[in-house]
Amino acid sequence: MRYLFLLTITPVQDFISQARKLKELYGGSTILSKMSEVGIEYAKNRGATIIFPQQTEGKNSYPNRFLVEVSFESEDELKSFASNVSDEILNYFKTLNKNQSPIIEQHIENFFQIYWSASEYGGDYKEAFDEVEKRLAGAKNSRFFTQLGEVGRKCSICGERNIAVYKDKDSKNHKKRMKFYIDLQREDLELVYDNLLQDKEGLCGICYTKRIMDVESFDSTADIAIMNIPLEIRKKQRDSQLFYEENLTKDFFKKNDVSNSLEDAKQEFQEFKKAIKGKYKQTSYYAVIMFDGDDMGKWLSGQKLNDQSRLRDFHKDISSNLAIFAKKAKEILKEPKGMTVYAGGEDFLGFVNINKLFEVLKELNSRFSELISEPLKEKYGLRDSFTFSSGVVIAHYKTSLGVVLGEVRKSEKKAKKSSGKDAVCLTVLKRSGEIRETILKFESFFELDFITKQLNENFSDKFISVLDKEFLLMCDENGELDNSLNSMLYLELKRTLKRSLKVDNAKENIDPMIESIRKIHTVNFRNFIDGLYICRFIDKEIG
Ligand SMILES: [Zn+2]
Repeated sequence: MRYLFLLTITPVQDFISQARKLKELYGGSTILSKMSEVGIEYAKNRGATIIFPQQTEGKNSYPNRFLVEVSFESEDELKSFASNVSDEILNYFKTLNKNQSPIIEQHIENFFQIYWSASEYGGDYKEAFDEVEKRLAGAKNSRFFTQLGEVGRKCSICGERNIAVYKDKDSKNHKKRMKFYIDLQREDLELVYDNLLQDKEGLCGICYTKRIMDVESFDSTADIAIMNIPLEIRKKQRDSQLFYEENLTKDFFKKNDVSNSLEDAKQEFQEFKKAIKGKYKQTSYYAVIMFDGDDMGKWLSGQKLNDQSRLRDFHKDISSNLAIFAKKAKEILKEPKGMTVYAGGEDFLGFVNINKLFEVLKELNSRFSELISEPLKEKYGLRDSFTFSSGVVIAHYKTSLGVVLGEVRKSEKKAKKSSGKDAVCLTVLKRSGEIRETILKFESFFELDFITKQLNENFSDKFISVLDKEFLLMCDENGELDNSLNSMLYLELKRTLKRSLKVDNAKENIDPMIESIRKIHTVNFRNFIDGLYICRFIDKEIG
């Protein structure tokens, strides 16, 4: 009997985003992808045909879910296949951490859940697919959690599980001391002293496993913020945080176990400043881009297909186009523009230097259309385009990575909520706590790039605060400005732009600027004016 077999690994979001360093984030995402790959390879060896994810040549990132076609003699055989593939996946995770104290083992044993479902597949692919989806959703709904019920000090990163490893440089006998913190009832806890930890940092078994993953990744978000400055200038200092004067302190050096002497680091910093002077601008901010395909459920269910009997081919094509795009995306976002953390399935997560933000997004957007949407449209005669919506957050390198990842996820959701999707929600989290946010369709989003350049070359930013002050008061309780006030707004815009000109005779720039601003004009005034403030912010950081 032939079956469709669908499997998913959870939890994904918490596992990936509970990270303090970029390296852990990358480690977590690598682990998940690898777990999925282990499952897919096992299925392939048992003669299964992969429907999704399709692979391309080279290194692939695998999503946490896969669908295969596979035949069995009996239902028992199917069940044993399911249990074996789940064991293979979990065993991979269990063997990552060689240093297994009982508490680490317990964390690892209880963390991941694997859900699977299968449906008999005679002839009607669509029917079998709907059924296997429905069954998996049912299995996930009936899930139960293992409560560890731990008493004691919690992990510094996730705050959920107890610490399993701890570092205390001051304590001669920190193992003894930490037993007290962890669990008063347990005498068998083995604590590990580890150089990968910061002083006074305690991690649970899960967060520790991500920390020790051996991955090729940038270490911290400061590496991304500073990437616009050529490597020749930066190469002397391996830790990018030492290019920021605020970190050249005894405290920072002790906490982070910096091996260089503070005096040398200060000297190198002076040389660095001299080398970039007048040539490169240093910023403390970087951006995170997250996106996934719009209406994925509708696409996969075949709702948007004219001929539903082609659903099986469509699934394979959409998945292989996504894989081709993912490979391209990794080429687009890499050093010196930034780094791709994850590109697989229809999901993307990457970090980008803010000098390259617009350029990278523009290219990702046009490649998505060229490599995925257009070929599918042509082959299947589709009416709709397959698009994506993106959350983008600009943050200070010192802002907690967990907070930033939470914000970018929120941004992505907001973009998806906007009508028609195909949109970007761009959020700026200033270190002062101030937040600016604008949601725009992709078709008008890149006007922000133009406006930012105009602010750099031709206009001072004065007109923005003038408009804000004058028109915010006229908005209704939802922050919307009545259409009848638009002509007044544009008159005022023209007047203030004239006065904001940096060079008196550069008047020919006014009309293009107004046209560009018109394209980002939304009914919600806050959304509109925040877009302009964000341009001002980006210009100040990179200009
Ligand atoms: Zn943890």
